[in-house]
Order: sequence, then structure tokens, then C-alpha cells
Amino acid sequence: MNLAPPGHQVAPSSAKYTSEVEKGNRGAAEVLVYNGEMSPRHLLFIFLDGVGLGKADAVRNPFCAAHMPTLTELLGEGWFLAGRGRVTGPMASLAPTDACLGVPGRPQSATGQAALLTGRNVPAEVGGHFGPKPTPAIASILRSGNLFSQTRAEGGSAILLNPYPPQFFEGIKSGRRLMPAIPLAARAAGIRLLTHEDLVAGRAVSPDFTGEGWRERLGRPETPVLSPWEAGERLAAVARSHSLVFLEHWPTDIIGHRKEFRQAVEALDRFDRVLAGVVDTWDWEAGSIIITSDHGNIEDLGVRTHTLNAVPTVAVGQDHEQLAAQIGSLPDIAPAVLGLLRECRPDRQP
Ligand SMILES: [Zn+2]
Repeated sequence: MNLAPPGHQVAPSSAKYTSEVEKGNRGAAEVLVYNGEMSPRHLLFIFLDGVGLGKADAVRNPFCAAHMPTLTELLGEGWFLAGRGRVTGPMASLAPTDACLGVPGRPQSATGQAALLTGRNVPAEVGGHFGPKPTPAIASILRSGNLFSQTRAEGGSAILLNPYPPQFFEGIKSGRRLMPAIPLAARAAGIRLLTHEDLVAGRAVSPDFTGEGWRERLGRPETPVLSPWEAGERLAAVARSHSLVFLEHWPTDIIGHRKEFRQAVEALDRFDRVLAGVVDTWDWEAGSIIITSDHGNIEDLGVRTHTLNAVPTVAVGQDHEQLAAQIGSLPDIAPAVLGLLRECRPDRQP
């Protein structure tokens, strides 16, 4: 991967950033944190699995029934529909983003996520769309360089906000389960995967946003439950301390496969309230937000499978128009994000 700007040497962490164990984070592997001052620029990356731009179909498309005032205010009515092209509002833009990448078949999670994390046409490189977990070839591509590792190589700090339960780590260790693409990329960049302890301490955000899933399905009744707005507030707060803050929200894809219309509407409503918490407390001077997906699914509950639809990439913040203008397909996303972080870091200008 060559995600470095022209004439730019990729160096290990600059002296401006230090590697240290976060306070109170006992036994943690190192997490890069900015030394003293906050990062001059930061980007919050919200990844929603399986969200495409669909049709105006009130029976199949839950976006038609969802109440999403935050996104509607940012992007206008009907922003979630296919075929409307790019949308540019005063504070946010939407770029329809191709997930098929010229490769036959339905886009899948491993190749799609690898494409958006590496800037490479991963389905073309490995000869098809594969998922949900990375094959050895996809894992090798992710390990050779990705958005997390490049951010750190250029002196920025990066964090994956998802906490993982003990069962996840045990499954990986025993070989019973494969590491998904996003945590694999973070680990390859030397980023520690967060745990339930981090969630309880307020350093992580649950993939369901509120933390209720830990109480109901993971047997952790002591887990604090946030309102969706509070989860958004936490996302905005953590984003101030890092160059790149990434959250993977996967329930949208699960609900899409189950064709659960009511659950889908609730999930979309909830996400909009999370986003309200983000934008209500956002640092508009120094921060940008990007929301995107790996393939369509939830926007067409008439089928159980992923769709061929473009996915919405939404950019919010001062540079939204410039950021969105660079994005037409999944591999455009990582270079656009890195470009934004570089451009706004005065000591990093070529
Ligand atoms: Zn997916």
C-alpha cells in the first residue's frame, strides 16, 4: 500500500506524540496518545455494517419509516435514497459509494472492509467478494498496511473504540474463530483491542451504542447503559484525544439478514439519536466525522442477502465537501481520510 503523500517519508511516531499506557489501563498494551495538547485535527470514523442506498419502498426499506431528524437536517429529505447522486448541505455531504468495485457477485464484509481500510481494490486482488471473515490473502493485505497503521506511522494516534468480550479473545486464541477485518487491521497497527473493563471505565463505546447487549446477551449485568445521545457524546469526547477514532457498528447487517423491519427502524432511529449526541457536542473547529459502510443490506429487507447498492458515505464537519468529493468507491476512503489528517496538521505539510 502506498498511502503516503508524494515526497513524504513515512517515519515512526514523531517526537510530538508519545507512546504510553493510558492512565488506569492496567496491563494494557500500548496505545498511542497525544502528549499534552489535543490532536490538532481529529476524525471520527463510524462504520455501519450493511447499509446501502435503497429505493423509496415503504415495505422493504426501513429508512422510509425511520425517524432520523439529525441526518435529515444535515442532508435534506430523502438523503437515504439511491439515484440522487451527491448531496451537499451546509455542514455535511453524502457521496454514494460503489462497493461492487467491478468484481462480479455480491459485495461481502471481509473484502469490503479491507478495501475501505487499505485503499486497495481488495476484491479484485483476491479474485472475488469474500466474507464475513478475512481469508489468509485478505488478512495479509490488511497486515501490510491500513488506515490505522498509516495514521500511527505518520505520528498520529488511532483507536478502535469497540470493546470485545472474553469469549471473543478465547475464540481467537483457540483458533475456533477468525479475527474480523477491522480488529485485525487495528491489531496489525499495534493497537490494543479494548475490553469490557474499558467499557465500564468509559473508554470504549459498545457496538450497539448503549451497552444493553452486554447485559442482555453477554451476561454482564453490571454494564452501564448509556442513552443513544450519551453514546454519541462519548464518541465526540473520545474523538478529541486522537487523530483517528473508529467505531464498528455491526447490528445493522445482522438485522438486514434477518429481515426484521421493526428492529431495523428502531436501529436507524437509535443511530440518529447517537449522531445527535455527536453533533450536539462536536468540536467543529478541529474535527470531522465520516460515516460509511461496506455493502448494502438493511435498505432492502425484501432479500436476506447483501445488495449491489452503493453505500452512503456521509462527511460532517468543516471539510465535508472536500472529503466527500474524493470518494466514489470504497478504496477512496482511506486515502481521503489520511489526506484530511495530513493537510490539517501544519507540521506535516510536504
Ligand atoms: Zn458487512
